[in-house]
Amino acid sequence: MTELPKARGGSGGSSPPEAAEPAPHDQLPTGADGMIVCDRLVRIYSGEGIEVQALQGLDLLIAEGELTALIGAAGSGKSTLMNILAGLDAPTAGTAWVAGRNLSTMTARDRLAYRRSVAGFIWQQTSRNLLPYMTARQNVLLPMRLSSLGLRERRRRAGYLLGTLGIAHCADRTPDRMSGGEQQRAAIATALANQPKVLLADEPTGELDSSTAQDVFSALQTANTELGVTVLVVTHDPAVSSEVRRTIAIRDGKTSSETIRHTATDERGTTTLHAREYATLDRAGRVQLPREMTRRLGMRNRVELQEEPDHIGVWPDQAADHERQ
Ligand code: ADP
Ligand code: MG
Repeated sequence: MTELPKARGGSGGSSPPEAAEPAPHDQLPTGADGMIVCDRLVRIYSGEGIEVQALQGLDLLIAEGELTALIGAAGSGKSTLMNILAGLDAPTAGTAWVAGRNLSTMTARDRLAYRRSVAGFIWQQTSRNLLPYMTARQNVLLPMRLSSLGLRERRRRAGYLLGTLGIAHCADRTPDRMSGGEQQRAAIATALANQPKVLLADEPTGELDSSTAQDVFSALQTANTELGVTVLVVTHDPAVSSEVRRTIAIRDGKTSSETIRHTATDERGTTTLHAREYATLDRAGRVQLPREMTRRLGMRNRVELQEEPDHIGVWPDQAADHERQ
């Protein structure tokens, strides 16, 4: 095991070892570059002679305070990524940092502390998030057992969280007496008990109908805006992804594109929502061109690039066309 140099400014993080190839475009990222930083994450599942490359060099950068949705087809690697970020699984290669911590170099003990107070996690299955024989309040109090807060402060925080997320009325109910949406909001309160920096939710609304899903999503928004927690939520729900500023699409174990939404107000005071889609540009300068665009223009194998003052033109390979004629 080699000693890694300390990350700049990061608490307990370390910068990645020197890459074998020089990174031509910019500096290697470190844990100080964002709240969630993934650098070429690879996760290979192997067993019984077959190998699945669930993550294939995934890069991701999420700033502190962002609320980001992650979308992608089934099997694209979303849960694999979330489990790594939650400290439940380790990547085969590459590095992930959350809140300045390098997840690859954490000890088992660091990992426990990480899951208790740095990253809160919410599963899709409502039954997996809460202890069934405890009330909502007891569930929220449970992770605070080891905190330095006194009993009274803990109870006050539990009450505050349940109230802020709109489920004060469920404080003394066990999960079987709560709706699916109320259970997920209690799960969010529980995940927030120890003031984590990040909240990770893997399809938290997947088992709910759309109006209940909206309540759960509002609770995630509240966690983000009122408590300042950085939120990353995997969702299939287009209604959810249209409400967040940033949506990242993951495809075949890599981030492939992202959509940024912003509202603009014109001179008459009318507010409109604008969405703009971007392709991901990786550190080696690679961009994935959407298949619909390349197919229409007959682009294969190679394209011609033309540098313009304010953009780069991408053209079909004209030499190949001449060769064919
Ligand atoms: P998503 O959450 O986007 O649906 P996953 O991250 O669960 O995707 O899975 C990505 C790929 O890895 C899939 O092909 C899946 O079958 C495979 N996979 C996930 N978990 C395991 C595992 N524990 N063992 C083997 N293959 C796995
Ligand atoms: Mg999944």
